[in-house]
Amino acid sequence: MSETTNDWKTELRQHPERAVPDRAGEFLAQGQIAHVGFVEDGRPYVIPMLYQYSSQSPDRLYLHSGFSSRTLLRLAEGIPVCVTVTMLDGLVYSRDAKYHSANYRSVMCFGRGRIVEDEQVKRAMFEAMTTRYFPGRTAGHDYAPAPSSHLATTSVVEVVIEEISAKMREGGPKGPQDAQDDAPGTCGVMEV
Ligand SMILES: Cc1cc2nc3c(=O)[nH]c(=O)nc-3n(C[C@H](O)[C@H](O)[C@H](O)COP(=O)(O)OP(=O)(O)OC[C@H]3O[C@@H](n4cnc5c(N)ncnc54)[C@H](O)[C@@H]3O)c2cc1C
Repeated sequence: MSETTNDWKTELRQHPERAVPDRAGEFLAQGQIAHVGFVEDGRPYVIPMLYQYSSQSPDRLYLHSGFSSRTLLRLAEGIPVCVTVTMLDGLVYSRDAKYHSANYRSVMCFGRGRIVEDEQVKRAMFEAMTTRYFPGRTAGHDYAPAPSSHLATTSVVEVVIEEISAKMREGGPKGPQDAQDDAPGTCGVMEV
């Protein structure tokens, strides 16, 4: 997986100083909602989904759904996919209209999917995913492990990440009057 390239897909042109490629894995591990983008019959779709990511396999993401999921059926064909994970950290308000902004951490992954058939791999993925979303809950103690019949009726797609970029904004407003306490108006950050 190449973290930064000069390829048009992953080069940040707006605010390149906000690029944080070394934090891509950290953001994927922290995120909760993936927006999964793909093209079918020339039309783009972006579908919100839960996902699994572990730093132990830094170039892999996992998505799951029922067998009838259009998204997973398409991704299983190996078509290009773009998965974006965003965390909104704060809303930034400025004394000048132009400098209102947002604090965020986001990561964008480009890759291709492939279906996971192996039951043990699916089971391990689901248990790790459950632990990631519900820290402290363990199979066999807090909930019954999935029987084979449940795993057999659930599709899992592994997205192999080929390229990735990460971007972040933090801190207060950066308007020309925001550092002047006696300037008109108000400024600050509303934490989310
Ligand atoms: C936070 C969140 C997490 C989710 N996690 C998962 C997950 O892990 N696995 C999973 O299978 N599904 C998940 N869903 C539901 C998912 O977004 C899709 O609705 C579902 O997967 C069906 O997808 P499909 O590919 O079969 O779409 P289709 O049913 O083929 O989509 C057909 C059309 O329905 C509409 N549509 C589909 N989904 C949505 C939506 N979410 N919001 C508005 N319109 C929609 C669109 O117009 C779309 O073109 C999640 C939804 C949310 C909001």
